[in-house]
Formats: sequence, C-alpha cells, structure tokens
Amino acid sequence: MKLYNSLTRTRDEFVPNEEGKVKMYTCGPTVYHFAHIGNLRTYIMEDVLDKYFRYLGYDVTRVMNITDVGHLSSDGDTGEDKMLKGARRENKTVLEIAKFYTDAFFADCEKLKIKTPEVVAPATTCIDDFISVISALIEKDFAYEAGGNIYFDTSKLKNYYVFNDFSEEDLAVGVREGVEEDSYKRNKADFVLWFTRSKFEDQELKWDSPWGVGYPGWHIECSCISMKHLGETLDIHCGGIDNAFPHHTNEIAQSEAYLGHKWCNYWFHVRHLNTNSGKMSKSKGEFLTVSLLEEKGYDPLVYRFFCMQSHYRKSLVFSWENLDNAAAAYNKLAMRIATLDNSGEINEEDMAKYKKVFTDALDNDLNTSLAVTAVYDVLKANISAKTKLALIADFDRVLSLGLIEAAEKIKAEQNKKIEEAPVSDDPEVARIEALIAERAVAKKAKDYKKADEIRANLLAEGIVLIDTPQGTRWERQ
Ligand code: AMP
Ligand code: ZN
Repeated sequence: MKLYNSLTRTRDEFVPNEEGKVKMYTCGPTVYHFAHIGNLRTYIMEDVLDKYFRYLGYDVTRVMNITDVGHLSSDGDTGEDKMLKGARRENKTVLEIAKFYTDAFFADCEKLKIKTPEVVAPATTCIDDFISVISALIEKDFAYEAGGNIYFDTSKLKNYYVFNDFSEEDLAVGVREGVEEDSYKRNKADFVLWFTRSKFEDQELKWDSPWGVGYPGWHIECSCISMKHLGETLDIHCGGIDNAFPHHTNEIAQSEAYLGHKWCNYWFHVRHLNTNSGKMSKSKGEFLTVSLLEEKGYDPLVYRFFCMQSHYRKSLVFSWENLDNAAAAYNKLAMRIATLDNSGEINEEDMAKYKKVFTDALDNDLNTSLAVTAVYDVLKANISAKTKLALIADFDRVLSLGLIEAAEKIKAEQNKKIEEAPVSDDPEVARIEALIAERAVAKKAKDYKKADEIRANLLAEGIVLIDTPQGTRWERQ
C-alpha cells in the first residue's frame, strides 16, 4: 500500500516495523465542546485507514488520547486552557465538561460507524507518565526551567522543522489567535512541557510535580500516551493538517530527544473541511454537528459517504447543496442494492477480480472515491447477485457506509407497502398478490431460498415478477 507520508513528502510504500502488526496513534479530541463535522472528517478518514489495515490482514493496535487538560486557546503556549473556557461557558467543572463531551464525541462516532480505538486515554489519567518523561528530558538537557515553567529547548535538535511542505497558511493555523511572545523562552520555537505559572492562574486542574504544582502542556500528552501503550516505535501517527505544526513537530522533537532514536515512520494528515465562509472552527463557536445534520433529516452515514467521495489530502468544501447531492447518490445506490435478489452462487473468480479493483484504489494513497466507484462497478458487472452482495458487504468492512442495511430498510418499507396493499376481489389476483407478499416477507427475513422458490413457482405458471423500488409488479408472459 502506498501512503503519502508528510515526513518524507512522498507517497511511500507502507511497511510496518514488525511484520503483520500496525501500531497506530491518533490525536483525539479536545473535549470542551461538541466535535464539528470538520473534526469528524479527520476521524472518518482515519477510521477508513485503520479498517483498511485490518482488511489487509494487519493486526492493528490503535491508541487515542482525549485532551481534557492543557490545550490552550493558542497552539503556542499562550492563552487560556480550552477546557476551563468550556467549563466557564457552561457553569460546570472541567471534569463534568470533559465527561459530557467525551461521551458526545463517541456517540457521534457511533453514528458515523467510526470504530473506537483499542486504547482511549484521557490526558488527566496519565500525569505520572508526563512527569517521568519531562524529568528525563531535563536530565538529558533537552528541557529547562524558566519563570516557573518547563520548556523544551528546540535549539538542541539538528532539525526541528521536520515537516516543511506546508504552506504559510498552514503554519499560520498553528499560531492562531494572537500568540504573544513568551520572554522566558530561550528560542522562539521552544514550547512548554509543564506549567506552574501562567497568566491564567485560575487553572482548575493542577497536580504536584518536582517543579511545583501545575499542569502539563498539550504536546507532551500525545508523545507519552503513545509511548506508554505502543512502546518506543510507532508505525503511523494521524491527525488533521492543523496538527502537523506545531503539535506533531513538537511531539517528534520531545519523543526522539527522550528515546534517542527515530520514533514514528509515517505521518498521515487529513486536510480540512471548510465552508464557503472559511475553516470550520470549534473555538469560533459556530459549527456544524452530527446532531444538526440529523435534525435536518440527514442520515449521518450520508456525511460519511460525502467525505468518502473526496481524497483525504484535498480540502473539502461543505455546503448543504453538496450534502444533498451526496444524500441523493447514497439513496440511489441503496435502492440499486435493494433490487438485488441474492440469487445465484458466489463466484470466487469474480470476487477476486472486484476485490482487486477495490484494493487497487485504496492502495493508491487511500483513494476512497475510487473505492466507492468499485461499488458501482460491482453493481454494473455481469456477475451473480449473490456475488454482488458479498462484494458490497466485503467492501463495507472498510467503507462502513451501511449500504446493505440501507437497502434492507428500503426493502422493508416496500414490503410494508405490499402487506398493507388492499386485497383484490378477483380470487386469482388475490392469490398471486398473497404469494408476492409472502415472498416479500421471506426476503425481509433473508429467507432467499423461499423467496426464490415462490418466484420460480409463479414463473412456471407464466407469471413474471418485476422488482421495482416501489414494490413488486407482476405480468403474465
Ligand atoms: P481538536 O478537538 O480541536 O483537538 O481536533 C480534533 C481533530 O480534528 C484534530 O485531528 C484536528 O486536526 C482535526 N480538525 C480540526 N479542524 C478540522 C477541520 N476543519 N477539518 C478537518 N479536521 C479538523
Ligand atoms: Zn496529538
């Protein structure tokens, strides 16, 4: 599989450190507000990557942090703690806010069929780990104390700016919201590992440390949580493009300084979801959530489908019109699947042929839109309906679009219509319609053998059944 690696700035062949195993780390949400659908674009694409590794047979261990402390309103080291801001906004404690929005995040993920990683670690549960790594960094002379805070000394590294394929615009994201110069820093790029002093003295969560009572910086949490659960080497690290700098750059700096060797081989960054009025941002307070999509009548999986139709390395513009187009395409696809009657046998050669179309797409830097096209190719193909359904179910192990379930729902609605249809006065017509209704019920119960039998018996009498999205019609031959 070829994946674009932000570190090498090329599409590299993905080769994990240990054969057959993938260690994957994902930057988790800062739980001071609902996730917006931009954040969820990143989690959807990471979910596809995770599931594709599994599809390829890798044994994947995926770890995600939950940022419930230390993420300041600027990605530099100034500003207020986002969690505290959230708590004040809602008149709750930081821990109440964290619990509420962590639960909300996973509820959204469930609706979008995003799998929960094997390990989910809130930063507040790993304070001792942060203290131990920071202590080691001080000992190795990679960190210093100044003005009550512990800073990482970026001048000690040969190359701090490891990702330099980002445009200035991307870099500007990293230093948003008016970063003020911190006079205690030895170098402009140095960053805080542990705060004991900040302008915002009302920090609610504080812990004892060798450097005084305080709280960790944001960047240290991902390095420590990753190393704690995945060891000294990491195969792939994921996040939205805004995380590349300074967050991931700082993670690499401190992890490699601590370990004394290379830490992570592949860096996977998802470009942003924007609206016509610009980047979607949680801190701006006006953003689109999964609940809002549902309130407006959209199935959250339509949003997943919308994301899948474009490449993760391209910015994606959200508009209601674009989402409507995705909803129409999704429903049409489900309708076409609903017309498949599961007849015939599974043909292994056909299976292999179309699986290859699917894997070729995803092997090509996770080209999800081509992978979705593979579903259309299957529907158009001259292969048995049973093979088609088996292929679509197989692809859905990665795509998680719930197309077969959506098709079943359509069929169930059609069957309901048939069952509720008035009974004809003509006994012969009533007999045929009763058999059609029986077949519909059999299909709903996935008793395709019985459904096929009814169709075949009627055909033997010269009666042809025609399945349509509106229900089954019949004609005499
Ligand atoms: P946060 O909760 O702010 O820490 O962000 C969670 C994830 O969403 C991170 O991986 C961010 O890089 C990513 N992210 C933030 N904004 C967007 C956006 N507009 N589009 C896509 N991903 C985003
Ligand atoms: Zn992170």
